[in-house]
Amino acid sequence: MDFRFSDEEEAFRTEVREFLKAELTTGWDQQFDTETELGAMEQGDFARQFQRKLAQRSWLALPWPKEYGGLGATVMQQVIFNEEMAFTGAPTGFNMGVAWVGPSLMIYGTEEQKKRFLPAITGLEHIWCTLYSEPGSGSDLASLQTRAVRDGDEWVINGQKIWTSGAHRSNWGWLAARTDPEAPKHKGISMFLVPMDSPGITIQPLVNMAGQHGFNEVFFEDVRIPADYLVGQENQGWYQLAVALDFERSSIAGSARARRLLVELMRFATEERSFVGAKPEIRHRLAEVSIEIDIAKYLSYRVASLQQAGKIPNYEATIAKLYSSELGQRLSRTGIDLLGMHGQLHPKSKHARLKGMMERYYLMSVAETIAGGTSEVMRSVVAIRGLGLPRG
Ligand SMILES: Cc1cc2nc3c(=O)[nH]c(=O)nc-3n(C[C@H](O)[C@H](O)[C@H](O)COP(=O)(O)OP(=O)(O)OC[C@H]3O[C@@H](n4cnc5c(N)ncnc54)[C@H](O)[C@@H]3O)c2cc1C
Repeated sequence: MDFRFSDEEEAFRTEVREFLKAELTTGWDQQFDTETELGAMEQGDFARQFQRKLAQRSWLALPWPKEYGGLGATVMQQVIFNEEMAFTGAPTGFNMGVAWVGPSLMIYGTEEQKKRFLPAITGLEHIWCTLYSEPGSGSDLASLQTRAVRDGDEWVINGQKIWTSGAHRSNWGWLAARTDPEAPKHKGISMFLVPMDSPGITIQPLVNMAGQHGFNEVFFEDVRIPADYLVGQENQGWYQLAVALDFERSSIAGSARARRLLVELMRFATEERSFVGAKPEIRHRLAEVSIEIDIAKYLSYRVASLQQAGKIPNYEATIAKLYSSELGQRLSRTGIDLLGMHGQLHPKSKHARLKGMMERYYLMSVAETIAGGTSEVMRSVVAIRGLGLPRG
């Protein structure tokens, strides 16, 4: 693999940088209330306008075909874009429609579904949430119990989902439901598109350990959706879902976000020498983390280069997700150790350093090795699919 970017790609990086410099004027990040969830950034007027500007430039889903609101860009352009956005901490809000609903529809959707749903994602009309996990089905997702039963021209859905990120801000749901309870568990699941304002859907907030309302419980009681909201083949949903999960685990932005945090930590360590002076080992840990961030970057580049070659990354994406999420936790521990007691202070405290970002990052990073598949499960995937070891 050639790790250099082409002249066109470097020119694109410059264009993105200039755009971000012009849009993210001094103080833009002060507009967000750090007391509330990180996700609340998405709700701010600034963030909404910013997303619209991205949509106008067809930058929300860069590699998508132009007819669906993309730019037909290369995967490497997407990598560059994600890196620049993550490094500046731009308020994109995480968009599941772009990340995996759209890509899955492009593979499994009907022409009608593609024409209707893909431009609505890039036009920001449809905001999606992902309805996979249930109280008894997380890692063992194939055991999910939410039922979808065909009734004439409709499907009737009953059951409960949990940990649904952003359900309270979404108007569409990407749902995995059981359509054949008699079949072996992997062979009786189908994927559906569900309007979140359908009668019979109830959304209950769940507040995480950082005090933020990011995810929810979602209850389905005789929810009726049209028959053609089924995606792909009935009972083949598990295999479609596995592809969507590989899109989810690409982790391209993770290393750029970590690099930004490290830059802030190093600036702090340079300016406030007394903090590091008392803990000489911190120098080594910062150096180690710096190397690890580069490793995470190259693991993501490997995923991107597979995508660029038209392949669907599999255990390679899992390795990138595993490494980048655990790196996030190592980095936040290093930051907390560097700041000492100050590191534990909430952004609202007048004694907080680095605007209290380490306290937020530390608490949020706990979820990174759970969301999108736990580290234990990721290691099993690498063992089985990557190393060819037998199932335990
Ligand atoms: C921030 C966040 C956002 C999320 N957003 C969404 C969302 O939008 N939509 C959605 O559907 N879900 C979402 N989830 C749920 C997430 O996918 C699940 O939490 C995750 O898959 C783990 O499932 P579980 O919580 O049921 O844990 P369990 O599966 O019950 O696991 C409990 C523990 O057992 C271990 N374990 C389980 N099975 C094995 C095994 N076979 N081998 C070894 N160890 C094992 C796990 O590693 C873990 O430590 C989110 C989670 C988080 C933290």
